[in-house]
Amino acid sequence: MDVQQTSRFTLTRNSQAVAADRRAVLLEDPGFGRIFTDHMVVIRYTEGRGWHSHGVVPREPFQLDPASAVLHYAQEIFEGMKAYRLEDGTVAMFRPEENARRFADSAERMAMPVLPEEIFLEAVEELVKIDADWIPSGEGSLYLRPFLFASEAFLGVRPAAEYIFCVIASPAGAYFKGGKKAVTLWVSEHYTRAARGGTGAAKCGGNYAASLVAQKEAIAQGCDQVVFLDAAENKWVEELGGMNVFFVMEDGSLVTPPLGGTILPGITRASIIDLARAKGHAVREERYSFAQWRDDAASGRLREAFACGTAAVVTPIGIVKSASGDFTVGNGDGGLVTEALRAELTGIQRGTVADPANWLRRL
Ligand SMILES: *Cc1c(COP(=O)(O)O)cnc(C)c1O
Repeated sequence: MDVQQTSRFTLTRNSQAVAADRRAVLLEDPGFGRIFTDHMVVIRYTEGRGWHSHGVVPREPFQLDPASAVLHYAQEIFEGMKAYRLEDGTVAMFRPEENARRFADSAERMAMPVLPEEIFLEAVEELVKIDADWIPSGEGSLYLRPFLFASEAFLGVRPAAEYIFCVIASPAGAYFKGGKKAVTLWVSEHYTRAARGGTGAAKCGGNYAASLVAQKEAIAQGCDQVVFLDAAENKWVEELGGMNVFFVMEDGSLVTPPLGGTILPGITRASIIDLARAKGHAVREERYSFAQWRDDAASGRLREAFACGTAAVVTPIGIVKSASGDFTVGNGDGGLVTEALRAELTGIQRGTVADPANWLRRL
């Protein structure tokens, strides 16, 4: 076996790595989240011993005890980030320090040990380096999925004493079928995603588990994604199942729901706020009700709306459906502000647009 010691990681190469010609075929149409690279990073945590056994190893299934805490009490968090191949051939990631910080915040909320941010960054970089041939060229990217879960075999209810941190990677094309075409949303007036004091601001699997029935309802209604309203009043727009939301008004100003514990603090969201302000748009982080959304779409005060997140980047919202009726945003096909922000953000990520805040981290 080919084993090497890099920095703090022991590197074991996959002797059964996918052949180059087969990989090229897979990369022609990778889709999202269905094909995976040859390796993964694994770091273990044991109470009293801390983080140990840092490895870059061949990707393979875990052996888990059926009593592993994650399988019963869902103590699990994750991140989503991308590595890009720039035109000059170098590989870069977009604001990975922000993912490292958010991962630490999520861990604290879920009573899990906090992986030091520099180890998180090293782990992701080690995987990108060894599997760099899996980064699609052109529009594609390598989606990285760091996650941490409770592996201790114990059925008592308390924070686990053993955890596994892992990073896997998956080449990605466009997230929504149809690329950056406008999406149709279903407003869930029955299910909510997060309540005050809950886990809405943590990137944990449990939030997604709770959102799936609403997402299923959205699909059944012929929509692409679900929009959640707040849990207290069932009135204020919060976010989609996995994306934040922005509204573009006729005066060029932008509105986005404020953070405050029930909304995931998206790194794309934060970046869009900065980019829009730099372009001269006023941006207000303020509550926006579903009723106002409908009225503003009808009156023309609302010109555009879009969803944003790492996976889908910036995606225009075309039609909004709900049990109480449907409406169209603008011309139903996005708009100039959405397109300009999308172009600027993707340009920075691809290294083709100036990056004054140094968001791009080259490997
Ligand atoms: C990850 C995520 C987002 C988007 O965050 P980014 O950092 O922009 O990728 C938005 N909402 C939810 C619920 C998420 O899990």
